[in-house]
Amino acid sequence: MKIAVCPGSFDPITNGHLDIIRRSAKLFDKIIVVVGKNYNKSTPCFTLAERVELIKRSTTEIKNVEVDMFDGLIADYARRQNAVAIVKGLRAVSDFEYEFQQALINKKINPELETVFVTANAEYMFLSSSIVKQMCIFGSDISEFVPIEICHDVVERIKSGS
Ligand code: ADP
Repeated sequence: MKIAVCPGSFDPITNGHLDIIRRSAKLFDKIIVVVGKNYNKSTPCFTLAERVELIKRSTTEIKNVEVDMFDGLIADYARRQNAVAIVKGLRAVSDFEYEFQQALINKKINPELETVFVTANAEYMFLSSSIVKQMCIFGSDISEFVPIEICHDVVERIKSGS
């Protein structure tokens, strides 16, 4: 069975993330979406458990997707799960340098592990969790940008700020 992990902060999951998950689920037997702490990013809006729950609700119809959380090196996590690949979405050249560096480090830690880059859907090239949060704070409609199943809860949660 070919397993791939799809790591990220997912604070919260957007339709850009969902598109990458859906497409990579066609390439592998199982995708484990892994919500991790990103030590380069400021305090997240949603807790790890909340982010996992939002992803689960957004991916119920994709049968070969599991959701998990982790704190540590993704290359070690992938080894424990017997994963053959890490899947990352690439939006633009700006994503590339960071992702390329991460891919090389992960290869060093776990030489058996490949990094597979899936190009962003043109429709979601500009989309990020931060943009969704900003739009919400200023009262813009985000229904085009986050999965329909979670849209209401995401808006309420970000507006309430708790
Ligand atoms: P990170 O903390 O790694 O930046 P994110 O939650 O922002 O985590 O993103 C996780 C992965 O999803 C990254 O590979 C990122 O490039 C990808 N991604 C984020 N938004 C999009 C999008 N709109 N389209 C395609 N890929 C995306």
